[in-house]
Amino acid sequence: MILAFSPQPCEKTITVYSIISRRNMSTIYLHQRTLAKPVSCTGIGMHSGKTVHLTIHPAPINHGIKFVRTDLPECPTISAHFNMVVDTSLATVIGYDGFIVSTIEHLMACFAGLSIDNALVELDAYEVPIMDGSAGPFADMIQRAGIKEQLGPRYYFVVNKPIELSENGKSVIIYPAEAFRISCTIQYDHPLIRKQACSIFVSDRVFESGICRARTYGFMHEIDYLKRYGFARGGSLDNAIVIDKNKILNNEGLRFPDEFVRHKILDCIGDISLLGMPLLGHVVLHRSGHAFNHAFLKKFFEQRDSWETRTLTAIEPLDYVSKSLAI
Ligand SMILES: [Zn+2]
Repeated sequence: MILAFSPQPCEKTITVYSIISRRNMSTIYLHQRTLAKPVSCTGIGMHSGKTVHLTIHPAPINHGIKFVRTDLPECPTISAHFNMVVDTSLATVIGYDGFIVSTIEHLMACFAGLSIDNALVELDAYEVPIMDGSAGPFADMIQRAGIKEQLGPRYYFVVNKPIELSENGKSVIIYPAEAFRISCTIQYDHPLIRKQACSIFVSDRVFESGICRARTYGFMHEIDYLKRYGFARGGSLDNAIVIDKNKILNNEGLRFPDEFVRHKILDCIGDISLLGMPLLGHVVLHRSGHAFNHAFLKKFFEQRDSWETRTLTAIEPLDYVSKSLAI
């Protein structure tokens, strides 16, 4: 739910600031969750332009999110985890032992946004399909399959002290909080975006209504450049917002007035999910992207005294905690 949405003048730019759902805070599940049954889709890879078939299977307790490449000999499997990331330049790519799975961020955001802990994602090419450029089609698939609560307890990363990474006008800071919250600001020297800010308490409902349908976006001159060098072969107005000098080229326009910053939050949810477990903390991002988010995750793990992992037996206060897990 959007509680406030008002364009306001700010330093010669237009600031769009929205706060989504403070009332219900985040949904904090005590038990792990998976899909009730397998579900499939077919689409094309944003960068490869190739058709890919994807099936999401339910998975047992403590399995986590894993990808399996059925097009390769012996069908190699890889965990969607921070230490498996091999590239973040155009998309988040995980890899191991000579094989990769690319552009995982929107699907990963969907698992995290809908609080899915365990799933096996089967695909027959190296790139997750881009669908309509958002996580909406994945969210619809998961809802179609149904979500099943499992007996195993859910472990959370609980932030106890702030962790910060700042560089060249970009920053990611995470503060202790009793919910998973993201506040994001983007800033572009472009008349159609300028500065946008949005703050959400991440819950299934907020993710579905306010975040998962926000599409990826690109500037016309960048897309021309990428295509010239063999990237974004599958990119089109069907799966990305394309911004020209002073207009949006998609006939249908925007899905939200601040769709750009909402998509950045979607990407952030996907990137943060590579921690491997859900998070209780307030993530504040300014002009960040996949590469910087990934650098932040490195810092997060280095600053081991600033967080702990716990199961929860009650939402508030966090002192009501059952046991700790040393990692
Ligand atoms: Zn994205």
